[in-house]
Amino acid sequence: MAEPVALLSSIKEVLRMATEILTVQNFLHGQFVTPNNAEYLPVMNPGIGKQIARVPLSTAAQVDAAVVSARAALPAWSGLPIKERAQILFRYRALLEKNAQSLAQLVHEENGKTVGEAMAEVDKSIEVTEFACSMPQLATGEILEVSRGVECRIDRYPVGVVASITPFNFPNMVPNWTIPNSLVLGNTVILKPSEQVPLSSLRIAELLKEAGLPDGAFNIVHGAQTAVESLCDHPGIDALTFVGSTRVARIVYVRATAHLKRALCLGGAKNHLIVLPDAHQEMTASNVAASMTGCAGQRCMAASAMVAVGRVDPIIEKLCEEARKIVPGKNLGAVISRQAKERIERYITEAEQQGARVLVDGRNCVVAGKEAGFYVGPTVIDYVRPEMRIAQEEVFGPVLAILRVDTVDEALKIENSSPYGNAASVFTQSGGMARYVIERASAGMIGVNIGVPVPREPFSFGGWNESKFGSGDITGKSSIEFLTRLKKTTIKWNPESRANWMS
Ligand code: NAD
Repeated sequence: MAEPVALLSSIKEVLRMATEILTVQNFLHGQFVTPNNAEYLPVMNPGIGKQIARVPLSTAAQVDAAVVSARAALPAWSGLPIKERAQILFRYRALLEKNAQSLAQLVHEENGKTVGEAMAEVDKSIEVTEFACSMPQLATGEILEVSRGVECRIDRYPVGVVASITPFNFPNMVPNWTIPNSLVLGNTVILKPSEQVPLSSLRIAELLKEAGLPDGAFNIVHGAQTAVESLCDHPGIDALTFVGSTRVARIVYVRATAHLKRALCLGGAKNHLIVLPDAHQEMTASNVAASMTGCAGQRCMAASAMVAVGRVDPIIEKLCEEARKIVPGKNLGAVISRQAKERIERYITEAEQQGARVLVDGRNCVVAGKEAGFYVGPTVIDYVRPEMRIAQEEVFGPVLAILRVDTVDEALKIENSSPYGNAASVFTQSGGMARYVIERASAGMIGVNIGVPVPREPFSFGGWNESKFGSGDITGKSSIEFLTRLKKTTIKWNPESRANWMS
């Protein structure tokens, strides 16, 4: 009798798992499909430290199936007038808005950020989709009569099949950096979401389908390194955008361009906030605290190093007060994994051992009722020296390293010596000093009295140096050049014209 009972309990267990652990599927030609023989990775809810799904690791053959689908859909989709394609994006935008609450909830569950932060992420997806809807006005051609009866014209054509590879920190927004603009410009798309946060992409697929996007114009292959390498190598893909760490951005850029694709690969960051003594104290303290802790510091635009110029101690005191008001599990979300929590805490401990002073300590943080969640509290570390690892590397947690210098030129020297170049900010009430820093900071996005200087649409998003490989930016007007090819046509209708060359 003992054996059947054991068997029964294991079946019950399987059924319980089946109802609670979702199996993520690829999205091919308008259908969700389970890849054959796939290996799976667990997908966690970092806020409670519990598995919520499993994601397949797609193979080269499964990537190939997505490419077949995207290429099959390309002629009909790219053949539609741009205004018709824009109509579908208008409907997609309306669906994002209608479903914003549930989309934000999903981001919260798979990524760990707060529902408010997730809502802001969905709002940004709506904004980039609005920009895509304006493409018929922006991505127009040009025409000029270059000599009597002869005209030259330029028309934009889609680049073809675009692959998009995305990171864990914005499961809804970063895929939407590439999807709406690519589609409206006539490309078809294959998304490879982060294996840590694959769920939001499923809702993106559903909403695009509901908006009327033809089957095959948008596909998803889940997975990790093998899937990405197959996308880089596949001859059926014309262009590839990547957003993630600098280490992987470099690998992907080299591999994709070696296979003669257009590639734009955005990497990691180490953003410096330069605080001058004349800065507005409250505004600076609250901006710096929000920048270092928003999305638990897991933003490529997060304040990571504050360079304090001269006597700014009152600002540092206020900043610490602000940081102490931020409560993990309430207005501070979880970090993505246990490994991330341990890595962040190692950075703090190492800096402390090397002589830095921890003013606000977020280590060993446990949230009541969510004891298994991966939380790090706000952490402010003073007297960090430029040669320390915490001053040089991307920590990607709610941690601010303060470096003290005497002059703005010393501050700029520290900022300029970073291999990254995503964002930099200056806090001052002097227009002249702000201008001085704007001109000399080595970063693609600069803030003046702003902790997170993300350009709003139609301004484009992208860093410099090792924060981005490839030319142009990923969003805004700059994306038009990346996502289209120019066809130049010269036309002569007047047979009486005798000039036949350079006419
Ligand atoms: P990651 O580089 O680990 O992963 C990004 C993507 O690359 C994922 O889809 C992953 O599956 C894939 N990948 C991972 N290892 C790979 C490998 N060896 N070969 C091929 N593909 C591989 O990044 P992450 O941890 O998901 O995201 C955090 C990083 O992203 C941070 O460094 C952050 O600064 C950066 N980021 C940058 C921007 C930006 O605009 N510059 C925006 C968001 C995030």
